[in-house]
Amino acid sequence: MTEQIMIRSNACRQSPVRPQTTPFPGTVRGIRRTAVRHLLSAMLFCLPAAAFAHDAPAPTKMLKVIPREEGGLVHFYVQNLEAAEVTATFDVKLENLKANTNFPYTTVFPGGQTVEAFTLSPIQHDRSWSYSYTDAFTIGNPNAVHDDSQVYLLPYAAGSTFKVTQGYHGAFSHTGPDEYSIDWKMPIGTPVHAARGGTVVKVKADSNNGGPDRKFESCANCILIEHSDGTIGIYAHLMHNGSKVKVGDTVAAGDLIGWSGNTGFTSGPHLHFSVFKTRSGRERVSLPVRFKTVDNPGMTLVSGQSYKAGAVEIQQVKADAPLPLAADGKKRAGG
Ligand SMILES: [Zn+2]
Repeated sequence: MTEQIMIRSNACRQSPVRPQTTPFPGTVRGIRRTAVRHLLSAMLFCLPAAAFAHDAPAPTKMLKVIPREEGGLVHFYVQNLEAAEVTATFDVKLENLKANTNFPYTTVFPGGQTVEAFTLSPIQHDRSWSYSYTDAFTIGNPNAVHDDSQVYLLPYAAGSTFKVTQGYHGAFSHTGPDEYSIDWKMPIGTPVHAARGGTVVKVKADSNNGGPDRKFESCANCILIEHSDGTIGIYAHLMHNGSKVKVGDTVAAGDLIGWSGNTGFTSGPHLHFSVFKTRSGRERVSLPVRFKTVDNPGMTLVSGQSYKAGAVEIQQVKADAPLPLAADGKKRAGG
């Protein structure tokens, strides 16, 4: 999602500079403000279907940018409306203003918090000033480094078999940020299991729309799970109300998380899975991962082949059980 905003100080007599993209004008506190937003393909999976559903809710904004004039400076605060980290990239055009950082400026905002991103200050105080800015943001953290020793489970029940209908580099839709994605053809309502453990950071399950057209991209129900290395697994096209989990839940590899469907940009019922990280607010990349099948401990899946999920090994319980109590009732260290 990107946004371009232009603000001029009240002292400025010139008419506002037109943004490079088509604006819709609005007026905020007597300051002319122009803004344009367009959806970044990177995050289309999880946005409501505002563009084509009459009863759609307001578009989800991951971040709220709040420029505030305080003490002769313009402070840019950012409220992250997501539970997960969001990476944003800002660019500015400044007249008679200097910034306390270099642009384009990419930074990560912690989930659910409001923090200051940067400030602008007038160069000559007796002259008017103006600025315009663009922002683009994507869920995730660009500093994530994928643990390549990690082997993923097939995201369906042990003992079941499904065919990969589009693998890595698939021409239908596995290009660009979705290059390293896997599609398994499966009937609507098939149980979906976590391929890797982590924390649920986003769930969309309210869509009942889908079809073989890019216009349905934003209708895909999905679950996003952040892994311990900061990468995020996405499970997409789930059925209406097809999530068993909610944001904040911790899941282990193999846990039932939802049910497959046919929502979003899809040519038929299937499950889409990929692991991704951000590069900047504008760019998300998917990562190649290996899967464990019933008869292979770690392999790259290919289109046209069917794969049977093996039994899930019970994960070792982490050593965070309460320490045994000593005779005096105090916790005993060690042991
Ligand atoms: Zn796909």
